[in-house]
Amino acid sequence: MSQSFDIVVIGGGPGGYIAAIRAAQLGFKVACAESNAYDDPKGEIRLGGTCLNVGCIPSKALLASSEEFEKISHHVADHGITVGSVKLDSGKMIARKDGIVTKMTAGIQFLFRKNKITLLKGHASFEGKNADGYQVKIDGKDKEVVTAKNVIIATGSKARHLPGIPVDNVLISDNEGGLKFDSIPKKLGVIGAGVIGLELGSVWRRVGSDVTILEALPTFLGACDQGIAKEAHKIFTKQGLKINMGVKIGEVKADKKGVVVNYTDSEGKAQKLECDRLIVSVGRIPNTDKLGLDKIGLKVDERGFIPIDDHTCATAAPGVYAVGDVVRGPMLAHKAEDEGVLVAETIAGQKPHIDYNCIPWVIYTDPEIAWVGRTEEQLKQAGIAFKAGQFPFAANGRALGMDRADGFVKVLADEKTDEILGVHIIGPNASDLIAEAAVAMEFKAAAEDIARICHPHPSLSEVVREAALATDKRALNM
Ligand code: FAD
Repeated sequence: MSQSFDIVVIGGGPGGYIAAIRAAQLGFKVACAESNAYDDPKGEIRLGGTCLNVGCIPSKALLASSEEFEKISHHVADHGITVGSVKLDSGKMIARKDGIVTKMTAGIQFLFRKNKITLLKGHASFEGKNADGYQVKIDGKDKEVVTAKNVIIATGSKARHLPGIPVDNVLISDNEGGLKFDSIPKKLGVIGAGVIGLELGSVWRRVGSDVTILEALPTFLGACDQGIAKEAHKIFTKQGLKINMGVKIGEVKADKKGVVVNYTDSEGKAQKLECDRLIVSVGRIPNTDKLGLDKIGLKVDERGFIPIDDHTCATAAPGVYAVGDVVRGPMLAHKAEDEGVLVAETIAGQKPHIDYNCIPWVIYTDPEIAWVGRTEEQLKQAGIAFKAGQFPFAANGRALGMDRADGFVKVLADEKTDEILGVHIIGPNASDLIAEAAVAMEFKAAAEDIARICHPHPSLSEVVREAALATDKRALNM
């Protein structure tokens, strides 16, 4: 007899595994199907999805290592510290990253055992529906058909590849290969100046690669507030990243000697980039291959996403939900997690809510970029009258002490009501500083609220407060 569950979650990434844990906490009998072993040396199925295995966590581990290397190589002299010749063992750097990933994926296995969640090892697909619920076929190490009253699809996304540019994850890589180079490329080409291209480009530049980024769009970081994007472009260029916007990629050739990318620059001139390795980071596409959606009457939209309603992530099939990268909205791990929690609680009859306008975005470059809410450009386009307050890290004692004084905080508040409409940060620890702004926006705070709240001194958070004061031309230290 087949196993039956209250909820089967398809996909063990942040959307799926968090949904499974929350559902188990709420008393449901839960299973989670995962098909990918990623780089597990024993070929065991790994939980954590893209984020833990080939995304957020490994990229941040490499960013941290490369940041240490750059700091010791170039920035400690001003502190009066002299070091001998600094060397990097890239194999050890990659092994450290792998160790962190292994530890964290094992942590989710532990949480599954603790919460009595059944792990189904294999590719899951819908077989159909009968009076008992949905039949989900598992094809892999486990081979069975299970029954579920509810199904949460959390199958995530994969890297988009370009026609004529075959990714082998050795010479030409997507995010997977770009996180495990076996040596430091002398010359690295990156196609795509988005979040992943900038983060991976930064890792390899800091440890010595000569990095050239080619981007088809004319505007750098188009989703960002353009004041922040301009500052970022200036700083990254100064650091040595060569960023070419508005290019058209032509023929790409790869052989033992390396990779040659033919392209047309923004002025229409034919150019050639010769590099040892190439990373292709031109976006991600939702995973719906062989999911059997047609067997339960579901279709994907024109961009390949599974359509869902606005508030509960419900699909058109009753009892089937979809969360994370496989549905509309930002492809961010914390968004996937929050949707996972929301669906589990919705199935339990609760009334959870996500305010998508309050989801923070982060780019983990140095300096980091983070924002929440709307940009100046979006507010202007919507015809909303706003006031802007900006304050630089260069006027903050803590940032100067840390030798991290690049960048600024910008607070945008409604002209009449003073409600915070957006906060944009480029600067040290922006990923942590943005949390204050997200909390403030969730509580519909005014700029005056942040301006009145006592912030610790000396701290980077004082820059957020000063920017809030600056919306009313009352910054105290400028
Ligand atoms: P995924 O994490 O993609 O997980 C889906 C899982 O489902 C996969 O393990 C897959 O194998 C499995 N699966 C798919 N189909 C099936 C099937 N039919 N049966 C069984 N299993 C299946 N986001 C951030 O918020 N912060 C960051 O710093 C960040 N950095 C990133 C860096 C890189 C290099 C990349 C590539 C992404 C990064 N992201 C980051 C994005 C983040 O990884 C994703 O938004 C997040 O992983 C989405 O979670 P998910 O659960 O929807 O899907």
